[in-house]
Amino acid sequence: MRIPFLDLGAAYRELKPEIDAAVSRVLESGWYILGPEVEAFEAEWASYCEARHAVGLGNGLDALILALRALNIGAGDEVIVPSNTYIATWLAISAVGAAPVPVEPDPATYNIDPARIADAITDKTRAILPVHLYGQPADLDPILELARKHNLRVVEDAAQAHGARYKGKRIGGHGDVVCWSFYPGKNLGALGDGGAITTNDSALAGRIALLRNYGSREKYVNEEPGVNSRLDPIQAAVLRAKLPYLDEWTNRRRALVEAYAEGLRGTDLILPHVPGWADPVWHLYVVRSKARDALQSQLSDAGIGTLIHYPIPPHMQKAYADAGCNSEDFPLAQSLADEMLSLPIGPQLSAESAQEVIKGVRDGG
Ligand SMILES: *Cc1c(COP(=O)(O)O)cnc(C)c1O
Repeated sequence: MRIPFLDLGAAYRELKPEIDAAVSRVLESGWYILGPEVEAFEAEWASYCEARHAVGLGNGLDALILALRALNIGAGDEVIVPSNTYIATWLAISAVGAAPVPVEPDPATYNIDPARIADAITDKTRAILPVHLYGQPADLDPILELARKHNLRVVEDAAQAHGARYKGKRIGGHGDVVCWSFYPGKNLGALGDGGAITTNDSALAGRIALLRNYGSREKYVNEEPGVNSRLDPIQAAVLRAKLPYLDEWTNRRRALVEAYAEGLRGTDLILPHVPGWADPVWHLYVVRSKARDALQSQLSDAGIGTLIHYPIPPHMQKAYADAGCNSEDFPLAQSLADEMLSLPIGPQLSAESAQEVIKGVRDGG
């Protein structure tokens, strides 16, 4: 591909001196599990997210699983989840033995539609798990309001939303627990797996810190059956090197989005809609087309890489075959899966490349 969907090597090269220094600092320190580098990142990440606590974890899926476990959600419980999301959101609910209860998105924003949540609440419902999909904040106020009314917890999947704001306040401290992934392709990405939670609840932060480390605070004293899911200090150091650049990198994404919005106006693509209260961070720039597959091959022929997020909705995956859903059960999720296409975007994508993508789209019709 002349224009790859995302060039992770370019992100490394831009910050190579800082990242190399961070990695060798850890190598030289002799401290390779948890310790000062992880603690420093946790403090910096909490502060960036306007939250009181952050706990560094092995990956984003574990962040979701441990958040649910720390809230004592498990077998027999139901958790409300978007019908259109990356499957990890559902898998976390299944991993603790609870049942995912899908709710369809707002067709304008692709995020869970708060107006449809009330109908999905039963006496087994314990939590709502909104996802800030593509870097666009979900409409949290009505969700928090419903949660208060029905005594439910709110766990947010913020794996695509580093730095996004809802009504001016950073994602990270609205719900009970906010879950992060630092998978390399995320807006703040490590050079391997990484994850975290943020929360304003010190008891929950403490419980998750315990669970990630064998349920142990003191070596060889185990308070509960935990797991091993600790943020690696080398990855913590890499994330600390990148964090000061995150806002600038988000601004570059915003500039590309402006170019796309301008250049693609008047085509038959449906472009992303941003509600007035949202400051999205454009993890992905997703357009919608009835002729999606043809558009994708047309761009591929022009040397432009695109991806589909996501081609099969969770309820249609073999992993959820036992739920016995069919493609008519969640028609909005299904039509998004059929029509969405993610155009190249990233802090190292040049303005010229964005113009080539626009031309590649327009050349087809
Ligand atoms: C990436 C992602 C996850 C999972 O994060 P990992 O670190 O890959 O486990 C969960 N939810 C969403 C929406 C994601 O995009």
